Amino acid sequence: MPGLDEKLQDIYSEVVGRNPGEHEFHQAVHEVLESLGPVVAKHPEYAEAAVIERLCEPERQIIFRVPWLDDNGRTRINRGFRVQFNSALGPFKGGLRFHPSVYLGIVKFLGFEQIFKNSLTGMPIGGAKGGSDFDPKGKSDAEVMRFCQSFMTELYRHVGEYTDVPAGDIGVGGREIGFLFGQYKRISNRYESGVLTGKGLTWGGSQVRKEATGYGTVFFVDEMLRANGQSFEGKRVVVSGSGNVAIYAVEKVQELGGLVVACSDSSGYVVDEKGVDLTLLKELKEVNRGRIVEYAQARGHDVHYVSSGSVWEVPCDIALPSATQNELNGADARTLIKGGCIAVGEGANMPTTPDGVRLFLDAGVLFGPGKAANAGGVATSALEMQQNASRDFWSFEHTEARLAKIMRGIHDRCAETADEFGSPGNYVVGANIAGFIPVADAMLALGVI
Ligand code: NDP
Repeated sequence: MPGLDEKLQDIYSEVVGRNPGEHEFHQAVHEVLESLGPVVAKHPEYAEAAVIERLCEPERQIIFRVPWLDDNGRTRINRGFRVQFNSALGPFKGGLRFHPSVYLGIVKFLGFEQIFKNSLTGMPIGGAKGGSDFDPKGKSDAEVMRFCQSFMTELYRHVGEYTDVPAGDIGVGGREIGFLFGQYKRISNRYESGVLTGKGLTWGGSQVRKEATGYGTVFFVDEMLRANGQSFEGKRVVVSGSGNVAIYAVEKVQELGGLVVACSDSSGYVVDEKGVDLTLLKELKEVNRGRIVEYAQARGHDVHYVSSGSVWEVPCDIALPSATQNELNGADARTLIKGGCIAVGEGANMPTTPDGVRLFLDAGVLFGPGKAANAGGVATSALEMQQNASRDFWSFEHTEARLAKIMRGIHDRCAETADEFGSPGNYVVGANIAGFIPVADAMLALGVI
């Protein structure tokens, strides 16, 4: 990793020492601190009030037992987490992830990223994240329901529309949000719609929330392309993953005239030179909860399935990593650059390793970091909160237009901030600084709390 200023290096060493073994959290902190040198130099008041040190320490961390009964009547135990990282700008806000890899370090990296992402949206929301090492894959609907009910039986004490508003993430979609909301409603005896986002359209949800992260990522990349005289029209695009973010990224790329030639899941990837059949993909993943290999089987001989290797071996003009953290490493970045890739938009959180990011930036590839590029999901969650607060329900067109405007705003703020702090064209620096300053200013104003 490249060096940090002395003061920032001390802060980073302190974070590593206080949070042993939490590698993803260390990585996320380092990546932000790398950008903050010029800000600290310009604003000594941040150092005087220990703003960065306070930012790196969550306001509250909750870890709890989640016992549940499987379909055979056996008692199962999982671990639940909620890390309420920073509420300087508004109630804590951020998704819940259900995946066997979840531990405190993952939740903290995601919660830390969320502070800056939420700030970048310009909406009044703080940063948090939560989840469990529960694996919904292969579980029946009844098992998922019992797990969600048990999870919420503890979590309900810590959330609320003015306190903390969770949403979905990996392994948590409309089904899980429904079970969680149902249990919250039952325990609290309140129809408090604003306590969770990502709800169904007939019970307090917002149009475009399901589509928002994928669409928003594509809007962001489209802005980067336009700023450089390019567009999605006729471009070859590879999207990793085939979950919520990936599916709606594919949809928007296709609407903008791009050709998505590959997507993946954790077992492998498919290459479909004629363009991904979105109807088939949605049916497979959203309805049948199947594996990506079944896409190749259903589509026939024109499509090939690769069970080992990396989806980034498929040459493309634009790459949209939309699966998980650290899924695109330095070797993958080299392959993409060699294959002529001109732009990368991170639909997932921290999908590119630090050496991958550096290679893209050095090669002049347009690089949209996750905290900016995928902020459309949480921004639309904040629009859902607005609708809940005013008991209103907006049309798809109106909500999508709001999302597009927010993503344009984020793009422009990142670009202008990168210019102002001496790194033109570097959206990583732009996003980190533009996300940091409003939070730091609010923390100064609120005193040492
Ligand atoms: P989903 O659970 O809907 O989909 C995740 C996809 O990524 C699946 O195809 C999954 O494959 C794949 N995947 C997950 N873990 C791995 C792994 N370790 N290796 C390879 N593939 C993997 O999640 P989302 O689409 O909601 O989230 C994807 C990413 O986007 C995450 O990084 C999330 O934090 C981020 N994000 C999501 C937002 C949202 O609104 N949902 C908002 C902002 C960011 P498989 O089914 O085989 O596990």
